[in-house]
Amino acid sequence: MKILIVEDERKVAQFVERALSEQSYTTRVAGSCAAARDALAESPYDAVVLDLGLPDGDGLELLRAWRAGGFNEPVLILSARDAVADRIRGLNLGADDYLPKPFSIDELVARLRSLLRRQAGVKATVLEHRGIRVDLLSRGVTFNGAAVELTSREYALLELFLQNAGRVLTRTLIAERVWEASYDMETNLIDVYVRKLRQKFTAGEGAEALFRTVRGTGYQLL
Ligand code: CA
Repeated sequence: MKILIVEDERKVAQFVERALSEQSYTTRVAGSCAAARDALAESPYDAVVLDLGLPDGDGLELLRAWRAGGFNEPVLILSARDAVADRIRGLNLGADDYLPKPFSIDELVARLRSLLRRQAGVKATVLEHRGIRVDLLSRGVTFNGAAVELTSREYALLELFLQNAGRVLTRTLIAERVWEASYDMETNLIDVYVRKLRQKFTAGEGAEALFRTVRGTGYQLL
């Protein structure tokens, strides 16, 4: 699951990002309306955490435009404005929940999870492919029925492969989706992580490989 955090206060953004990453969510932070608009235009997100007071505009205007444009995923407003009128306006514009600052990070995580669960009622919540099974809500992973322990990063990578089973994923795309801005293309981290997935998802000697290396390009979940 991928969450966009729209927040211009670095400390708050990092705090939220860290908490959500610990829960195995993939996150990206946008510090302005412009950055948020770009992020959402570039790739899909499962939910947005939205601050209202942004340096180049009002989060509520962003929300209005997104809803008008058909963006349907949950939006949780996070704001120091706790006036009832603002809260009502946000909800009227299509926010799903509202958390006034200062907030408890545990409450934020719990509310977000609840929004995602509610949304999941209309979406597939289990990804399955060749014996790999991922429950997107509980984040439980099994392979041929046996539980598999994954780190947050391994989980995010596996989710990306499953959502694109059969497609060749370029290293650039993997870096963008799984590492966001923090990936250094000079490193071989992607290869290290694919190797870890291969080790964890192997059916044993002679079994057909699940992950194919596409030389010079990237990887493919067969
Ligand atoms: Ca702000």
